[in-house]
Amino acid sequence: MRAIEILDQKTIDKIAAGEVVERPASVVKELVENAIDARATAITVEIKEGGISFIRITDNGCGITKDQVRLAFLRHATSKIRNVEDLVQIASLGFRGEALSSISAVSQVELITKTPESLTGVRYCIEGGTEKELEEIGAPSGTTFLVHHLFYNTPARAKFLKSATAEGNSVSTVVEQLALSHPEISFKYIQNGQNKLYTSGNGNLKEIVYQIYGRDLTRELIAVEAETPLMKISGFIGNPSVARGNRNFENYFVNGRYVKSKLLARAIEDAYHGFMMQHRYPFTLLYLEIDGEKVDVNVHPSKMELRFSNQEELYHQLCLALQNALLARERIPEVSLEK
Ligand code: ADP
Ligand code: MG
Repeated sequence: MRAIEILDQKTIDKIAAGEVVERPASVVKELVENAIDARATAITVEIKEGGISFIRITDNGCGITKDQVRLAFLRHATSKIRNVEDLVQIASLGFRGEALSSISAVSQVELITKTPESLTGVRYCIEGGTEKELEEIGAPSGTTFLVHHLFYNTPARAKFLKSATAEGNSVSTVVEQLALSHPEISFKYIQNGQNKLYTSGNGNLKEIVYQIYGRDLTRELIAVEAETPLMKISGFIGNPSVARGNRNFENYFVNGRYVKSKLLARAIEDAYHGFMMQHRYPFTLLYLEIDGEKVDVNVHPSKMELRFSNQEELYHQLCLALQNALLARERIPEVSLEK
């Protein structure tokens, strides 16, 4: 056995990066979420080679001031919370202050940013956690992140990347989820120089569904609008006829965040019970607004998992609301909430 030593910061950051940055899609997710948190109204995502060699995210958000740029790349550096109490009513998608430090630990990052108030912008380059350049330059207001050669310095990680096509498909899925989660933001997505997705940002959800899923599915949507004691529900669910053999069509957003939840999936699937064959899964695009005190988003670094208090009520209220939407389609009187 060798003597015990504390790891140096770069090694710590590289190891920690593994929790946040698994593949190009996770980089895109983190950077777009930062753009959303920066109140951007237009976001462009561009990738080459599935995002392995090139990712560029441009936003017209609030930008970062020159004196804050270095800080932004430090681990646990965030402008979004000050203490754990802030987590209860968290309005931002980020709060852990880990994305930029993680991404820059395992890639070559170039940042160009300018706040609307400042006259000049800043260009900052950092590679494998080491600063390369910090200079003032002319730039439009907003932020552009360029991420080159993901995992260039962590071959063990690079080995687990799939083909450029497969990684590119994962990025596409993430961009679609983000565009769906914020219909009021205009998204442009370019893959290997080709336009893949454009949303206008006018808030019209059906238009985005049309862009992503095509006309046939758009014709099969049932609007859902309900208020239950625990939450507000809005969005669309698909007619039972558009069922799928897997859960890829089940989209749901909790307080603006695309998530995965066994509880919500069960509520959705049980609502369709009797309308659909077994082992078939519906299309849904559901937006749930739940009081921040009743959801915990700080379960996993990727924030894809949630913990709910009032699990059973939540399940019943969602299930019932969806059943009512399905029944209303057939003009059968509503089931009452006091079942
Ligand atoms: P978190 O999002 O959890 O705060 P990040 O590491 O993702 O942590 O980002 C660190 C900080 O950098 C953010 O809190 C924010 O202040 C700033 N930042 C990152 N991306 C942007 C952006 N696109 N526009 C403006 N500020 C940004
Ligand atoms: Mg973030």
